[in-house]
Amino acid sequence: MPGEYRLKITMLGDGAVGKTALTIRFTEGGFQADYKRTIGTDFALKDLQLKDLNASVTCVVWDLAGQPRFETVRQGFYRGARGGLLVYDVTRRRTFLNIDNWKNECFSNLANPIPLIVVANKVDLADSRVVSREEGEKYAKKHKFLYVESSALTGENVEEAYFALCRIILMEGKARATEANRNS
Ligand code: GDP
Ligand code: MG
Repeated sequence: MPGEYRLKITMLGDGAVGKTALTIRFTEGGFQADYKRTIGTDFALKDLQLKDLNASVTCVVWDLAGQPRFETVRQGFYRGARGGLLVYDVTRRRTFLNIDNWKNECFSNLANPIPLIVVANKVDLADSRVVSREEGEKYAKKHKFLYVESSALTGENVEEAYFALCRIILMEGKARATEANRNS
């Protein structure tokens, strides 16, 4: 897939799971205890190279502050999205149970399903962890999503999650293009 791409990626998940922390860690590096800067829908840019695919990618990472209240905000958030991170907080089971709702909301706002990656965040908080790796992996496997354990605090697997998603988006695009050629 040689070429230049601009990929819109949506951050999905309940409040305080670490969507903004992951986005900032990926696009700017670093971590803050408090992210008051997220107002409504916001996005951040990050350029990356997928050398094996000979592809230059500009990630446009869209983040929401809490639950979007208005349908119009929601539609704009999902419009044109090519992939998403389904984020939950391993110290709060409720946030894990809710990723399925986020997946459904995302897909119901799009004509076609897009690649999603399940991101089990805050694994640095090992002592208060309540959702196991097995449970997360089981959910991911059921939906054929990739599963990643991350920490926006330490930076563990943060870049890897976005890189893996971009790679999947480009590979799936290639598969679709091949399919279209075959059918024509
Ligand atoms: P959002 O509502 O999903 O955007 O969540 P935020 O990014 O605002 O994070 C919510 C809180 O969790 C903040 O206090 C962050 O500092 C904290 N946080 C986010 N990610 C991590 C992580 O990986 N580990 C730890 N220990 N705290 C995190
Ligand atoms: Mg946020």
